[in-house]
Amino acid sequence: DTALILPRPDELTERARAALGRIGATATAPGPGTLTARTPVTGTDLEPVPATSVAGVDAAIGAATAAFAEWRTTPAPVRGATVRRLGELLVAHKEDLAELVTLEAGKIRSEALGEVQEMIDVCEFAVGLSRQLYGRTMASERPGHRLMETWHPLGVVGVISAFNFPVAVWSWNTAIALVCGDTVVWKPSEKTPLTALACHTLLARACRDTDAPDGLHSVVFGDAEIGSALVDDPRVALVSATGSTAMGRAVAPKVAARFGRCLLELGGNNAAIVGPSADLDLAVRGIVFAAAGTAGQRCTTMRRVVAHSSIVDELTSRIEAAYRTLTVGSPLDAGTLVGPLVDERAYDAMSAALDKARADGGTVVCGGDRVGDTGWYVRPALVRMPTQSSVVREETFAPVLYVMAYDEFDDAIAMHNDVPQGLSSAIFTTDQREAERFLAADGSDCGIANVNLGTSGAEIGGAFGGEKETGGGRESGSDAWKAYMRRATNTVNYSSELPLAQGVEFG
Ligand code: NAD
Repeated sequence: DTALILPRPDELTERARAALGRIGATATAPGPGTLTARTPVTGTDLEPVPATSVAGVDAAIGAATAAFAEWRTTPAPVRGATVRRLGELLVAHKEDLAELVTLEAGKIRSEALGEVQEMIDVCEFAVGLSRQLYGRTMASERPGHRLMETWHPLGVVGVISAFNFPVAVWSWNTAIALVCGDTVVWKPSEKTPLTALACHTLLARACRDTDAPDGLHSVVFGDAEIGSALVDDPRVALVSATGSTAMGRAVAPKVAARFGRCLLELGGNNAAIVGPSADLDLAVRGIVFAAAGTAGQRCTTMRRVVAHSSIVDELTSRIEAAYRTLTVGSPLDAGTLVGPLVDERAYDAMSAALDKARADGGTVVCGGDRVGDTGWYVRPALVRMPTQSSVVREETFAPVLYVMAYDEFDDAIAMHNDVPQGLSSAIFTTDQREAERFLAADGSDCGIANVNLGTSGAEIGGAFGGEKETGGGRESGSDAWKAYMRRATNTVNYSSELPLAQGVEFG
């Protein structure tokens, strides 16, 4: 029953090589050390990738600084043409890149394709944006004066990204940064170097095809030490870092100390409130995808359900029934819905969380057990908790869904917000008062608040990010581009007088 049919490790290496080959990337460039790409599908090695030295990071930042001098004065719509070309190459290589995402991050095929689609979408968004980097004109209080603002390119952007969205997070940052006139040095997760190599290769080709300057984009391979080299360098104007709250806690003070800018996209602990009037069919579908999809390894994964006491038992048993039908297995197989955890550490963290939950009086309704003995596959766990104890208030990056009950709506909102993180949130209700209250100033305290859909799977058109320990950053759509530019306020006097503001007289 628990045996898994998995591909042979050498077959996975072959598939990775073939996908890289079609993209035109080679993993064999010379370097001082190596980093070994691994696959969670079988928990085995794929390919060695050259690691970057600290001196290599310095050189990449130097190249990006030099390229910035040219790129910042390239007209924004011309910059957009490079991003348009990247988008075309992503369309052409969608399957290849998705294959690498599945191999390196363990995402099922449909989610891997969705991640690449998100890259294509953000390129389109950025191309449109390249003609819409609008500043405002304000009414001056002085006669014969014009008051306005201009948005200018910021400089070198250091992008640090997490393993679980190995390509999309890069594209959110890079497509927008490039049209904004910035250049980029990317430090991908040490767990996903091959997808990074593939993205860099496609962008390098887009740059060649559109005569964009060399050095516009570099990728540096390594762990936290290499990330730190980027964080500490005063030539890096913006550090956009995605990962755990622990990482953000290390990075943010260092960037602040040199008065650099930070954009932080950190951990989440996302919940849904399910009201007594909720459409339970819809709620169950929304909850199961958000909680068990991507094997619980999304920053927006649903980790908590706060359900009204009149429906909590029925809801829990319906989620349990759905959980029992989820197929756990190789993400390369068409029927699989739940792929592997990224590594043994993730499995250990999940087991420890379940032990703590039991110690706090929780009941594991189903799941939590390992499937097979190759890779780290688990059945998503559903846990009834008597209270929102400390383990529930932490982010465990695995598929564990805690269910708590409430009686009064105010208590549901209080419990919902009583966690350190503030990324995504949802309410399932058909009661308009509850829905509006959830979206109001005294409702959800998260950066993302949804009604009648789950917490994960955001569209690129909105600004993405969260409050509190999630870090406060916003990426992707809406006016998130402003984080990648600097604002200048300009006053022009076209009169022959020199009136001073606030009516000040001087001489
Ligand atoms: P992680 O924090 O272990 O690593 C993220 C990145 O930070 C990696 O590239 C890593 O090398 C780098 N890093 C770690 N410490 C560093 C330091 N001191 N200085 C510089 N760089 C450092 O996270 P992970 O395990 O790869 O990803 C999972 C975490 O990311 C979860 O907490 C998840 O919620 C979060 N995440 C957040 C978002 C978001 O948009 N809010 C998106 C995806 C993932």
